Amino acid sequence: MPNSLPVVAVASLGGTISMTPSDAAGGVVPTLDAAQLARSVPGLADVATITTASLRQLPSASLCHDDLMEALAWAEQQVAAGARGVVLTQGTDTLEETAFLLDLFWTLPEPLILTGAMRAPQAAGADGPANLLAAVRVAVHPESVARGVLVVMNDTAHYARWVSKGDSLAVQAFVSRDGGVAARLVEGGPVFFHARQTRQQPLTRPVRAWPKVALVTAVLGDDGELAEMAVKGGYEAVVIAGQGAGHVSFGFAQRIGALAEQVPVVIASRASGGSTAYQTYGYVGAEIDLVRRGAHMAGWLSALKARLLVAALLASGVAPGALGNALANWSRLTPQ
Ligand code: GLU
Repeated sequence: MPNSLPVVAVASLGGTISMTPSDAAGGVVPTLDAAQLARSVPGLADVATITTASLRQLPSASLCHDDLMEALAWAEQQVAAGARGVVLTQGTDTLEETAFLLDLFWTLPEPLILTGAMRAPQAAGADGPANLLAAVRVAVHPESVARGVLVVMNDTAHYARWVSKGDSLAVQAFVSRDGGVAARLVEGGPVFFHARQTRQQPLTRPVRAWPKVALVTAVLGDDGELAEMAVKGGYEAVVIAGQGAGHVSFGFAQRIGALAEQVPVVIASRASGGSTAYQTYGYVGAEIDLVRRGAHMAGWLSALKARLLVAALLASGVAPGALGNALANWSRLTPQ
């Protein structure tokens, strides 16, 4: 009987899902490649014909933008060669960032799924095999088409836009606050909770080297000196994870005025959910004042995602002066 299963291309980038104990290192380190991961998953061969590649073997904190752009090009090649969907396995520590960065550039309707594990393969109750199986199941499902990049962990699919790591060690590590999760897996298939939404126009590919974009958290008693040092140190833009709805101290606000004359300054929230405000608070250091001083509000984008978007916009040729408009398309969801 001919094999009529869809093809899913799986590539590994490293992370806990691929880690085995090393005596020399005293803990687990990435060693397994994608073929070994795929072989460890019971039932995977019944869902799809799996092709594999090993692109990196890194802890995810050491992945960089160029690694991701290479993975993106590889994923596109797999779709061009006939893959129904693509799965990347990687560490969970930066998953919310890598998923968002890839989503900014993913133009294809085919699903690009990211997954990982919270427990290494030799641990009791290792979650990697279940996550990889779930990721492949989502990748082949027709309802997953045209939803951009999805993160599949613990039988839940998250949109790149909303996903964040909400727990450092628990198996249920990922949350999608505000926008909500995309789907849950029930009896082997994803159940999506919302109709597809129109995706933002993906960005054009980088035309220059990735800029250095600083991310500075505003903290109690902070006068913004660190943000100023970043600009003096050559950072081309600054994202500030501001207090509450995007606020800073009086002194920090003054510095933002001076910095915004030199580089794009974007204000996000350091809270774990919610949008920045735009027109509520009128005091010095609040959104109305900061926008008057030349800063841009990040809206619903987390500080981590705002930083990636700013870097990607600059890398894809958007002039610093035009960054505010480009950012507003992605960040602001206004009342309907
Ligand atoms: N908890 C992380 C993981 O899932 C640690 C290592 C990493 O991010 O690569 O993979």
